[in-house]
Amino acid sequence: MATSLEARLARELPGYARRVVGALEAAGYEAWVVGGWVRDALLGRPGHDVDVTTSAPWPETARVLRAAGIAVHETGTAHGTVTAVADGRPVETTTYRVEGGYSDHRHPDEVRFVTDVREDLARRDFTVNAMAFHPERGLLDPFGGEKDLAARVIRAVGEPERRFGEDALRVLRAVRFACRLGATIEPATQAALETCAGGLADIASERIGQELDGILSTGRAAWALRSEFVVMAAAVPELAPMAGFDQRSPYHAYDVLEHTARVCAGVEEFAGGMAPAALRWAALLHDVAKPACWSEDVSGRGHFFGHPEAGARVAREVMGRLAVPGEVTRAASALVLLHDLEVRPTRASMRRMLAELEAAAPGQARPLAFALLDLKRADALSKAPACRGYAVELDRMGAALREELAAGGVWRVRDLAVGGADVIAERGVEPGPGVGMVLAQLLAAVMEGEVPNERAALLAWLRW
Ligand code: ATP
Ligand code: MG
Repeated sequence: MATSLEARLARELPGYARRVVGALEAAGYEAWVVGGWVRDALLGRPGHDVDVTTSAPWPETARVLRAAGIAVHETGTAHGTVTAVADGRPVETTTYRVEGGYSDHRHPDEVRFVTDVREDLARRDFTVNAMAFHPERGLLDPFGGEKDLAARVIRAVGEPERRFGEDALRVLRAVRFACRLGATIEPATQAALETCAGGLADIASERIGQELDGILSTGRAAWALRSEFVVMAAAVPELAPMAGFDQRSPYHAYDVLEHTARVCAGVEEFAGGMAPAALRWAALLHDVAKPACWSEDVSGRGHFFGHPEAGARVAREVMGRLAVPGEVTRAASALVLLHDLEVRPTRASMRRMLAELEAAAPGQARPLAFALLDLKRADALSKAPACRGYAVELDRMGAALREELAAGGVWRVRDLAVGGADVIAERGVEPGPGVGMVLAQLLAAVMEGEVPNERAALLAWLRW
């Protein structure tokens, strides 16, 4: 008899997934919903994509589903996967399989199709991801995933060291799922993470980038830095020198790593847990170049001259290598570059900040301005107690920024109420770079408040 939990899952299973499972079973095969949908539905978070696993060999899956009026795309047939599209919704449908040897720690040497769903579940990474569900047969949970999920525990399926040795990406996936679920990592699994983290060096960097982006998007990067730094530093070796780096400065109460963890937590609080991706990356990387830029003055006090510029370079390098989208990379490195920019709670200062952001990340100045103030606030609150008053001033800067934007703030040449043609007509300059120089001077004059951004006033300024 179905438990009430199973009855709830059966109710929540979307009709299109039921159609795929039903069609395969009507043809004499066995089919189950697996992985992320089962995990998230048990947590009361349905809405995850549905993946199906089946005893049907993939050509049979394709034939049976097409005969039932379901479109099929042959998306990954080498691994037994086709994508069924039922009622307009994709369902990845994969033949029961296990992976053969992993002589290079990342690619299975072969995929072997099997006949028992339990074997398929056993090749999956963590107990919470190794459950199958069928609307009539209920939950199939051979590794205690339901119990681990309820207790919020990430536990490897099988012998952890062997599983991480087969595929080192699982090390980073463990941290991602722990962040996502707010879970802890079971001790034997944790020990294996630390032993096997070095294997990440052999994993394709864009796969690392995807998992890391997944970690940041949970909003729990601070936990990952504090509790799983071995894994984080194996994924991004540039982070390693932050740990234990004593800043020897009256401004700082923490080492660079704990400071960074606090800034990561801070930006989440200020953005209500919805910090934009660029701000999350910037929080992680804003002080990454501090250890390399450290110098000591005669009194023994530490300084970090040039660390924002160097940090922005490192951010571009790291994020480029991890194949983070270019727009996010440009935005994050602009935030790193400008995180120490001196700002005051005046509209003129906010205008200058917008212009600096515009130069560093063209077209993104407006959203980044708020992100930069959040980053600066989190940064201030993560230093020595004496620096924290600055966070209050930042609220006044936010108000000045809003005023400036509401007043139609001007920080780009194209915001000016005149254009190149006016410069040519009024000044008599030849078309060419001279026009841009005049416009840049005019923008500076407007930003300094010497002339209002009104067409008549600007034309007069040009004539003058
Ligand atoms: P998400 O919401 O993050 O996509 P998910 O559970 O769907 O969560 P995927 O990475 O899409 O995660 O993988 C789907 C399923 O395939 C997982 O639940 C897990 O069972 C299995 N899986 C994926 N990657 C691996 C891996 N590297 N090693 C073992 N099993 C894996
Ligand atoms: Mg998925």
